[in-house]
Amino acid sequence: MNDFDLLVLGSGPGGQRAAIAAAKLGRRVAIVDRREMIGGVCINTGTIPSKTLREAVLYLTGLSQRELYGQSYRVKDEITVADLGMRTQHVIGREVDVIRSQLARNHVTVLAGAGHFLDPNTIGVTGGPDRERKVTADHIVVATGTTPARPDTVAFDDRTIIDSDGILHMDRVPETMVVVGAGVIGIEYASMFAALGTKVTVVERRERMLEFCDLEIVEALKYHLRDLAVTFRFGETVASVERMAHGAITVLESGKRIPADTVMYSAGRQGMTGELSLEAAGLAADRRGRIKVDENYRTEVPHIYAVGDVIGFPSLAATSMEQGRLAAHHACGEPVQEIHELQPIGIYTIPEISFVGRTEDALTEAKVPFEVGVSRYRELARGQIIGDSYGMLKLLVSPEDRSLLGVHVFGTGATELVHIGQTVMGCGGTVDYLVNAVFNYPTLAESYKVAALDAMNKMRHIARLTQ
Ligand SMILES: Cc1cc2nc3c(=O)[nH]c(=O)nc-3n(C[C@H](O)[C@H](O)[C@H](O)COP(=O)(O)OP(=O)(O)OC[C@H]3O[C@@H](n4cnc5c(N)ncnc54)[C@H](O)[C@@H]3O)c2cc1C
Repeated sequence: MNDFDLLVLGSGPGGQRAAIAAAKLGRRVAIVDRREMIGGVCINTGTIPSKTLREAVLYLTGLSQRELYGQSYRVKDEITVADLGMRTQHVIGREVDVIRSQLARNHVTVLAGAGHFLDPNTIGVTGGPDRERKVTADHIVVATGTTPARPDTVAFDDRTIIDSDGILHMDRVPETMVVVGAGVIGIEYASMFAALGTKVTVVERRERMLEFCDLEIVEALKYHLRDLAVTFRFGETVASVERMAHGAITVLESGKRIPADTVMYSAGRQGMTGELSLEAAGLAADRRGRIKVDENYRTEVPHIYAVGDVIGFPSLAATSMEQGRLAAHHACGEPVQEIHELQPIGIYTIPEISFVGRTEDALTEAKVPFEVGVSRYRELARGQIIGDSYGMLKLLVSPEDRSLLGVHVFGTGATELVHIGQTVMGCGGTVDYLVNAVFNYPTLAESYKVAALDAMNKMRHIARLTQ
């Protein structure tokens, strides 16, 4: 008999949920991770630190209050890295505690160290209290996540030239910063440093950023970031980064030279499979370290599963959790449903963006007709109260069956508000529900009713003309 029914490599959102789901089904479960990484990238270096940092930035800079109290309003004048780090460390500590206690409550054995395959059912755990401990399991879930990709051509020194992990170890808030890569992580950090008063230059090879989002909302974000002194260099490629005594110069292929105190590379992420000895299990990863799985998260070796960022898109914490749970259920022979196709996207820039469903561009390309209903926060009493005049919510409505095709939100609370739209869409509701519903007043949720009425009025206009 093997030591465990299910063994999980990696304690991020995917691994945790796989372990707990199997334990809840009465299985003998173990989870392997380095002691200092319990909670994964999510808790220690990614989602939670970055979102806590954002909250600290918003609070200490007083940015979200400036429409009300004036442009010079600040909670603290000289914001230090210690001010920002304190909140982050506090939240990380609490979250790690919660996870440890959940694992303990569910009798999941935590094995400290890094795991690698010795054969398809045996894992060697190194770096823990024993030199190498061997454990066997009937089923194995690989949830080892990703690490920032580091181009060979760039001499990272973790002080001046850093990746997104390095943000958490900075010794001061830089006056100037170059962010290479305008993906979600790059642009989130660019907006946080811009809010802190850092002069940020974003260099992006493509002509656009966040092209999967609503174009109008991305334009609004760019406007806001420019207002915070962010410079965008789209369609530009970095040729080299020259390290200087104080700072670095980013040289672009176009010949431009951008001096900055700090250069942050956000050039994608690489699957953490290099140290897993996948070949011992009869598996292989692709060029980006990703593992291929089927619709049940099974690899080519049927008792080995992979979930979370290590399998690639969409690489989000919430999706990873659900994949982990489903993989464990499948491994335990439970009936498994697929993840609902409606998945919200949240981008924690300042201001934040969130959406669910399709964009105007995607619908137009697919020749799906739609009507747009818009609500602006400045027309809502709650918008005035909180001093958010730029926020907006946009509904894309089918004129044929009045269903919601997409919900796009920009501004305060966007990542929370989107779930109202997601629920209506997921339950097959129509714009009529939002028109007739009564919302608390004064709230931002009311924007759904305003946008629904706007869409309805536009549809009524067409109906009147064609009568
Ligand atoms: C800066 C940043 C911001 C982000 N913001 C958001 C956000 O706002 N919202 C969101 O949904 N997602 C966000 N993400 C993505 C989110 O963090 C990931 O989708 C999520 O953490 C992936 O979970 P996972 O289960 O794949 O494991 P991960 O969280 O990636 O953790 C993997 C774990 O596996 C461990 N491991 C690796 N190799 C081994 C081994 N050989 N043996 C044992 N353990 C091993 C690692 O130590 C690590 O603890 C962000 C990511 C980053 C980097």
